[in-house]
Amino acid sequence: MGKEIYNVCDKCGIEANRLTCLKKYGREPLLKKFTISTYHSGKCDVCGKVTSVTEIRDYFFPDFSLLNKKLKITNEAKDKLKELEKMEKLQEETKELIEEWKNIPFWKFKKKKEAREKLDKNIDIIDRFLRGL
Ligand SMILES: [Zn+2]
Repeated sequence: MGKEIYNVCDKCGIEANRLTCLKKYGREPLLKKFTISTYHSGKCDVCGKVTSVTEIRDYFFPDFSLLNKKLKITNEAKDKLKELEKMEKLQEETKELIEEWKNIPFWKFKKKKEAREKLDKNIDIIDRFLRGL
């Protein structure tokens, strides 16, 4: 944060106004935004998207730190979810590896050992991930 916010997109401006009203008055805003806005093409100072932007006064000078916090939490949650999906895939892969390992006859010692090492590596990654949750 700390950086000045001059131009915002509709999505960020409306949401910042909403969060500000919820915090200040405990309810949704009576007006989502000022009736007339002059948009121009530019970069939103909050989300960084290049789109139609306008001045922050059109959203009644909301407290953007609330929106920044929300975006940070949302991004962290998305990252966690991605990681979780990755782990689910790894878990599936590991189940297959277990089956593979089981089907390798014991006299194919080297092959069996290699499969076991791969399996242990996956289990280790999953284990470390679960500990970090
Ligand atoms: Zn934006």
